[in-house]
Amino acid sequence: MSYIIEIEDLQKHYDNSGERFHALRDIDMKVRRGECVILKGISGSGKTTLLGIMAGLDHPSSGKVIVDGEAIAKLPDRHLSRFRGKHIGMIFQHYNLIENFSVRENVMVPLVPMNLDFEEVERRVRESMEVANISHKASMSAGRLSGGEKQRTAIARALASDPEIILCDEPTANLDRANSERFVEILSKLHDMGKSIVIATHDPIFDHLPFEARVVHMEDGRVVEEGRES
Ligand code: ADP
Ligand code: MG
Repeated sequence: MSYIIEIEDLQKHYDNSGERFHALRDIDMKVRRGECVILKGISGSGKTTLLGIMAGLDHPSSGKVIVDGEAIAKLPDRHLSRFRGKHIGMIFQHYNLIENFSVRENVMVPLVPMNLDFEEVERRVRESMEVANISHKASMSAGRLSGGEKQRTAIARALASDPEIILCDEPTANLDRANSERFVEILSKLHDMGKSIVIATHDPIFDHLPFEARVVHMEDGRVVEEGRES
């Protein structure tokens, strides 16, 4: 099967005090295995909502969401968290690290429920930190890292479970130019590793990537335009 994510006729609305707000409307989107998709759109256009539904963090109001062959839209939450642990690595704008854990311990967290043997845990943590260029800070507590280092720790944590899919929400929003460029370099490695990647961003640094990516523009909860950039 060539698609890792297939979304059909997806709707998401919120009902607040009798008013219905449509956060996502009529979304049809397919992501090929190994593809990188850039979701663009101004704040409030629905990017985070869409990523959350792809990750199984949130349920759609209606429509189909098939991720790696599994229809996740109606899966109960306890199955969703297992599904997420196996298939999805997430990188958030605010990193969501445990501040008093070391880098190594943060990267280890997603492996805990997997019941791997000690050598396998060590190997995955070491390799993930290498890809993310954070091995040299392995023993430092996360609270003492710089912004760029925090983000690289979050990348290593996202890689530890060896997921096929990497979802990033505004990954460079809190980074300076140099660290944003380093992020793009790591992204390029992940692309070469064959990861399927979706990034929500409005940072123009993603307009010129050193590898092929597809841009999907969102506006008021709809996909309005698609194009190719590299
Ligand atoms: P983006 O990530 O592109 O900035 P979001 O997906 O965060 O956009 O939000 C899309 C719209 O959905 C926004 O107008 C937001 O206020 C609204 N929204 C998000 N979550 C909720 C919620 N729980 N209840 C009501 N409205 C929400
Ligand atoms: Mg957002």
